[in-house]
Amino acid sequence: MIKFENVSKVYPNGTKGLTNINLTIEQGEFVAIIGTSGAGKSTLIRCVNGLNNITQGNLLVNDTDVAKLKGKELRQFRRHVGMIFQSYNLVPRATVLKNVMFARVPDMNLFKVIFGLFSKEDKLAALDSLNKVGILDKAFIRADQLSGGQQQRVSLARALTQDTDILLADEPVSALDPVTAKEVMDDFKRINEDLNKTILLNIHHVELALEYASRIVAIKKGEIVYDGPSQNVTKEI
Ligand code: ADP
Ligand code: ADP
Repeated sequence: MIKFENVSKVYPNGTKGLTNINLTIEQGEFVAIIGTSGAGKSTLIRCVNGLNNITQGNLLVNDTDVAKLKGKELRQFRRHVGMIFQSYNLVPRATVLKNVMFARVPDMNLFKVIFGLFSKEDKLAALDSLNKVGILDKAFIRADQLSGGQQQRVSLARALTQDTDILLADEPVSALDPVTAKEVMDDFKRINEDLNKTILLNIHHVELALEYASRIVAIKKGEIVYDGPSQNVTKEI
């Protein structure tokens, strides 16, 4: 569960990112955050995994009080909340399989990263995730040799290999062409339905949000202006 209670976020330069957000998302929901550029969508997503710290209020993620975490605890917490970025954030010259396995390496274990000493379990988990997003056949190809859609599937697989109930995604399909964008959204939908993962993503493409998410949260100037089922969304928001 994700629970925002009167959360506000003010950036150090005084810019208001979020103002008085109240939002509860239950396990297994598929929620899209919509709003124009600068509305606060990324800020909201980034608060959930502690990439942004909140200025006021309470934020609980699976009973963890995110604002209280720091250092090692915060890094550990983040490992259990999958995050997908618009720009994929892959290691370009590493294979797809390695990119996915990196997500399972405890961050102190640089040795493992540098020498690539992954366990059999790491490898099997990574292959299983690649299979779930339909790119198992790309496991031994370098990440930078894949198309945008395939790279985004690798980052989905990477998030899936983390032991996580929650997948966050910051504009995951905005760099993709419309057909590929739908294919990636289909993957999110399947992961949501088959694996009961909570999906919280922001997307400026309203039609896609309405088609795939069951719940829409619209934000404007850092405040929630709509929160409800996608079928009740009217043109005005
Ligand atoms: P988008 O509208 O596509 O979400 P933004 O232009 O709002 O992107 O932000 C792009 C990046 O720049 C983000 O990482 C954001 O944190 C940062 N950023 C946005 N506005 C400011 C600002 N006023 N000062 C510093 N960094 C900013
Ligand atoms: P969106 O994702 O909806 O485009 P953001 O969450 O990126 O919006 O930005 C919300 C507001 O916060 C904007 O006014 C943006 O300029 C500002 N902002 C974002 N990141 C930063 C930052 N690092 N420093 C200062 N202001 C920021």
